[in-house]
Amino acid sequence: MGSATLSGMRQIHTAELLSIGSELTVGETRDTNAGELARALTDQGVEVTRMTALPDDLATVSDAFRAALTRSDLAISTGGLGPTPDDLTRESIAAALGETPAVDPELEAWLRRLFERRSTSFPEANLKQAWRIPSATSIPNDNGTAPGWWVDAPDGRVVVALPGPPREMRPMWSGWVIPRLRERGLGQDTVAITLRTSGLGESLIAQRLGRLLDRGANPTVATYARHDAVDIRISARPGGGVGGVGRAGNGGASDGDRGADPAALVAAAEAAVLEQVGDHVWGRGDVTWAAAIGERLAERGWRLAVVELGTRGSVLALLGEGLGDRLVLAEALGSDHRPPGGGRIQLPTLAQRVRAAGGAEVGLAVRASVRGSDMAVSVAIADPRGTHAERRLAFLAGPMGRTRAALLAAAVLHARLRA
Ligand code: AMP
Ligand code: MG
Repeated sequence: MGSATLSGMRQIHTAELLSIGSELTVGETRDTNAGELARALTDQGVEVTRMTALPDDLATVSDAFRAALTRSDLAISTGGLGPTPDDLTRESIAAALGETPAVDPELEAWLRRLFERRSTSFPEANLKQAWRIPSATSIPNDNGTAPGWWVDAPDGRVVVALPGPPREMRPMWSGWVIPRLRERGLGQDTVAITLRTSGLGESLIAQRLGRLLDRGANPTVATYARHDAVDIRISARPGGGVGGVGRAGNGGASDGDRGADPAALVAAAEAAVLEQVGDHVWGRGDVTWAAAIGERLAERGWRLAVVELGTRGSVLALLGEGLGDRLVLAEALGSDHRPPGGGRIQLPTLAQRVRAAGGAEVGLAVRASVRGSDMAVSVAIADPRGTHAERRLAFLAGPMGRTRAALLAAAVLHARLRA
C-alpha cells in the first residue's frame, strides 16, 4: 500500500485508529478522539481505513496493534497510558512488536520533577509512564503525566500512542505528531472543498448530480446529510483527467499519471456541481447558518431583530451565538400569541414592528404551528427594500420540527439578504 519515497521512507497513505479503554466499550465515555483524528487525517489526504474501540485487555489490544501493522501505514491509539494496572497500551505495543519496555531515565527525572512541583510524593505506580521501548520516541505531554509514544515499526510503518483525555491528546497531536507525519510524507496532495446546501434533500441532489457522484472517480463528489445542511464534498488527488469528472470506476490515475492538478480537478467538478444545484448553495466549508447570515448582514452593514412564535426560541438558538452584535433584539412568543385586545396579527406586520422596536435594518418574524405531524412555518422579513413573506412546511412536529422551522427561516433570510 504505502510506497517508498526517494529518501527510502514509507509514505503514510493509510491509517487505523484504536480507541482504548473499557470506559468506551461499556458506554461510560463517548469516543470523540477517533472522530477528531479521522477528520484531521482525512484533511491531510490520509485514508482512514478502520476505527476500533477496545476494552483494557492486553491480548485484545496487542492483537489489534499487530493486525493494524499488517494493514496500514500508521496506527494511532488514544487512551490506556495512565498509571494504573488497567492502562495497558504500552504493554500491548511492546508485545505486538516483541520488545521490552524499560524506564527511560530522562522521562523518569521529568516525571519526578512534576510531582515535586505539586509537592506530592512520587507514586511508584507512575513509573510506567516513564517506560519506553527501544523503537519508541517519547512525545512530550505538557498537560498531564502521560507522555505519548512515536514508534518506528518494521517496514517503515508508524505507531503513535496518545493519552485519552482530549485536552492532553489534542495539543500533542497538532503540535508534535502532525509536523512529524508531514516530514514523513503524508497522504497525497488532495484538495477538497465542501458546498453547504439547503432546500433539496439528499436524494434530489443525487438525482441532479447524476454521474458526478460515481464512486471511485477522481475527483470524488459525495453528499452528506448533516443536521443543518446537505453538504456536497468535492475532493481530488493528483492524476486523473479533468475529463474524468464522473468517469466511473476510474480508481485513480496510475502512478505514472501525475499530470492533473487536484485543484484544477476540484474546480472543474465544482463548476459542474454549481450548474446543477448552485441556487441551493448557501455556504462553504464548515460555515454555520449564523456565520453565513452574519456575513450577509455585515456586507450591507445591517443589523437584525427577530420575533419568533411557536418555536420556543429555536431561531435564537440557531443564530444567536454566531451573530454577535448584529443581532439587536430577539423575542420568543407562543404560537397563538395575540396582542392585548387585538386579533391575530399578520406576520409581515410583526416583522415591521420588531424591526422598528430593535432599531434594526432587518426584521425577521417566524411563526411555527403544528399541522398534523408536521409544522407549518411562516416567515416574514422587513428590510429597507420592503417586506417579503413565505410559507413552508417543516417535516415533523415537536423539538425536531421546531429546529427545522428555524433552519427554514434561516434559509429564507439568507436568500433574501443575498438577493
Ligand atoms: P487514559 O488514562 O489515557 O486511558 O485516558 C483516560 C480518560 O481519557 C478517560 O477517562 C476519558 O475521560 C478520556 N478518554 C479516553 N479515551 C477517549 C476517547 N476515545 N474519546 C474521548 N475521551 C477519551
Ligand atoms: Mg484508561
